[in-house]
Amino acid sequence: MELEPIIGLEIHVQLKTKSKMFCACDNTGEDKPANTTICPICMGYPGTLPVPNAEAIHMAGKAALALNLHINNRSKFDRKNYFYPDLPKGYQISQYDEPFSQNGYLDVEVGSNQRHIGIERLHLEEDTAKLLHAGKSSLVDFNRAGTPLAEIVTKPDIKTPEEARVFLQELRLIMWYLGVSDADMEKGHLRCDANISLRPLGDSKMYTKTEIKNLNSFRSVERALVYEIGRQTKLWEAGQAPTITSTRGWDDKKGETVAQREKEAVHDYRYFPEPDIPPLEISSKQIELWQSELPELPNQRRQRLVEDYGLSQNDAQFLVDDKALGDLVEKLVEDLAPELENDIKAAAKLATNWIVNKLGAILRENNLMVDGLKCSVDKLVEFLLIVARRQVNSTNAQVLLKRLVETGRDPQDILDSEDLAQSSENGGLTEIVQRVLNSYPDQVKEYKAGKEPLIKFFVGAVMRETKGKSDPLVVEETIKDQLVS
Ligand code: ZN
Ligand code: MN
Repeated sequence: MELEPIIGLEIHVQLKTKSKMFCACDNTGEDKPANTTICPICMGYPGTLPVPNAEAIHMAGKAALALNLHINNRSKFDRKNYFYPDLPKGYQISQYDEPFSQNGYLDVEVGSNQRHIGIERLHLEEDTAKLLHAGKSSLVDFNRAGTPLAEIVTKPDIKTPEEARVFLQELRLIMWYLGVSDADMEKGHLRCDANISLRPLGDSKMYTKTEIKNLNSFRSVERALVYEIGRQTKLWEAGQAPTITSTRGWDDKKGETVAQREKEAVHDYRYFPEPDIPPLEISSKQIELWQSELPELPNQRRQRLVEDYGLSQNDAQFLVDDKALGDLVEKLVEDLAPELENDIKAAAKLATNWIVNKLGAILRENNLMVDGLKCSVDKLVEFLLIVARRQVNSTNAQVLLKRLVETGRDPQDILDSEDLAQSSENGGLTEIVQRVLNSYPDQVKEYKAGKEPLIKFFVGAVMRETKGKSDPLVVEETIKDQLVS
């Protein structure tokens, strides 16, 4: 029997507002001493009243629109009741039957497949406190209690562990681009539970699902799902497919899921409307305004970099993933293009090659971030122009870039003072190439007739002329340029 996995994700994203969801407490408590960013409201003292945070609603609005969700003109808050030490009030203020938004989707590229993943809803709620386990006792840090959360629930549209990972990575990027969350899984800003069941291929029925918790990296999401598919396949083959919904925890060290408990049914939470908060009314005009505020999103940027800049999918992806580096390359292209007869693609190719590959390597080597760079965009443009004009060969250009990053000095100054410029005793490279080609008319004819390996012969001849000071790749390019014209 062939089985197919049915996977859905439940994701909690911490919103990086200044204050908490329902009180004025500082929302940066994760960096503060335990139990210092709390007040009677987030501690659930009797007689206190919660007031929804407008900034959290704004952020949820942008996140919902970016995920193509329909924002309801009216939604309401509900109390989700359960008893646990991380929940100061004995209930969590969440949204149940009238959520903030619903019915969206996200298109993601998985390998070479375009996948359309439905999103059931995005609603607002408050985070719980953090439990720290120390030996036999547990400690509670309430700083996190009341942090605004956007809970995002996908439809069971995910078919493979890889898809689940790619979906989450895209979601994190979107949150970054919107500036609504740092979405760092390791720090718990983005938390994911995965629901998975199997079914015979071709069957349309849904079978009993298992929920996997404690997934705190993209890799663990993928690994846990791979493991769970294996485990459930064996159960099916033994005629023992799950019949009771259960929760299992992922043990990253052992690489397996461990039974935790059988899950509460929804009625166990005794949801009822939060009596202290009036329904949330969002006008269509407000939604339009939020829509107009949306920045360019990762998939739009990816597409633009491929179409307008002529970048490969890989380079585009790289620049989308590293937003700061992407922003830098775009700024460079904008300044560089006018110097290259407004050839955007040529400017993009040059900038991407040097900034992504070479500058990226220098940054990694020195553990630097783009915003920690000493040199200005102007100086990087000047550097790229020096490369474009072939005033320096590729080896020396790397030295030049390194000096530039280290010192922030003017590239032309560095070029002159360190004697890095391309040798031009015998005239520029173009003239040398022309001269060499003129002296081998027969070989040029043979090359043009299809004997392409001859290119090496020409390169060798030119290199002898420049006494090895030229960059062979540049030489080869220059020769090819001339042979074509
Ligand atoms: Zn508070
Ligand atoms: Mn939740």
